[in-house]
Amino acid sequence: MSGDKINLERMMHRLNQLALCSRGSRGITRLSFSRESECANRLVRDWMREAGMVVRMDPLGNVIGRYEGRRPGAPAFLIGSHLDSVIEGGKYDGALGVVAGIEIVQTLRERGLRPDLPIEVIAFCDEEGARFHTTLLGSRAMAGMLREEDLCARDSDGITLAEAMRSFGLDPSRYTDAVRDPQSVAGYLELHIEQGPVLEREDQACGAVSGIAGAARCRFRVEGRASHAGTVPMSLRRDALAGAAEIVLAVERIAGRMPSVVATVGQLRVFPGTSNVIPGAVEGTLDVRSMEDEQRQAALKEICEEAERISRRRGLSFTCRTVMEAAATPCSARLVQAVEEALAKRGLKPLRIPSGAGHDALAMASLTEVGMIFVRCRNGISHHPDEYVAPEDVGTGTAVLLDAVLELTAAETAEKFLNKAVKGANTP
Ligand SMILES: [Zn+2]
Repeated sequence: MSGDKINLERMMHRLNQLALCSRGSRGITRLSFSRESECANRLVRDWMREAGMVVRMDPLGNVIGRYEGRRPGAPAFLIGSHLDSVIEGGKYDGALGVVAGIEIVQTLRERGLRPDLPIEVIAFCDEEGARFHTTLLGSRAMAGMLREEDLCARDSDGITLAEAMRSFGLDPSRYTDAVRDPQSVAGYLELHIEQGPVLEREDQACGAVSGIAGAARCRFRVEGRASHAGTVPMSLRRDALAGAAEIVLAVERIAGRMPSVVATVGQLRVFPGTSNVIPGAVEGTLDVRSMEDEQRQAALKEICEEAERISRRRGLSFTCRTVMEAAATPCSARLVQAVEEALAKRGLKPLRIPSGAGHDALAMASLTEVGMIFVRCRNGISHHPDEYVAPEDVGTGTAVLLDAVLELTAAETAEKFLNKAVKGANTP
């Protein structure tokens, strides 16, 4: 048995059908707890049943299909990704991982194979946060990280998450029932499009993910003095925007020197923002990410020090406030190894790519060991109608997923995991 047996035609057909569950004519818009997501859930439930799984929906609206293993009472190996999209996003982000998970179970079933461990395929209800502006709702609920106040998050029409859940026939007060017992799961593997250009540069269909980068998000303010654009000589100005421009270039330079760090100023607001007034203040955002937490912290420190130096020289003031900080989440060595072995089996390089974006695996890491497989997407474009994955890459990625899952759900691997779990050493 190997990954060559998957039915690529069936997968592409299913991806096309899911793409029809979308609002509007441009790209894919499938927000959580919408008519479109209900349409996608229905398709996924049907396919899961067709693949021989027992299907349920948990209290948060995550769709879960279970394929029993040969070992009674053994923990389940989880495969998942999300069904929601951003507004006018692409057809593969999230959907590919769900369709791939169903495909590998269906392939096993069609060959009359049952792994030792049960397999569960999960279609998470809300990863992107496009509707309620709070991400990873489905996976955080499963990992026990959803808080009661998350249920009060509102969409742009003022509808709360709790109300949206009720309209979907769910009981929001039962959200803690979605939490999984860590003893009942034996790992989580997610296949997802890369959403970046590394695999394309490496000329390879897929690779293992080393972990999800840690991130810091900051808001900064540069304060100068607004005055008349015509009357104040250049040497007497305290132009906040000219200072901010220098700071943006310093961010690029400092992060550019640190191989594991990426940093971005994504937003600048200029005050008063008029053509005949020298900018008196600028507010901006700074996003710094790295797989190495120390590098991320060092970069942020250096950026702030440099920004203060620039501001002082120009007679400006600089303040910076960190609004979000999350540590890097490494993937489990055991799962990375299984993916690398599956890559090697097909003559592919054992590529390890850090994920700069968050995924459901990030939340699931607080429940169990996680791993991810990235699949190449054209020009690294994602969250956009032009998002595209070549069918042969869908096939290769899914074959690698199947081989890795076969290894991870085999009796002897399970044995090792269970022994470790008993010793309480299975924390990610
Ligand atoms: Zn995604």
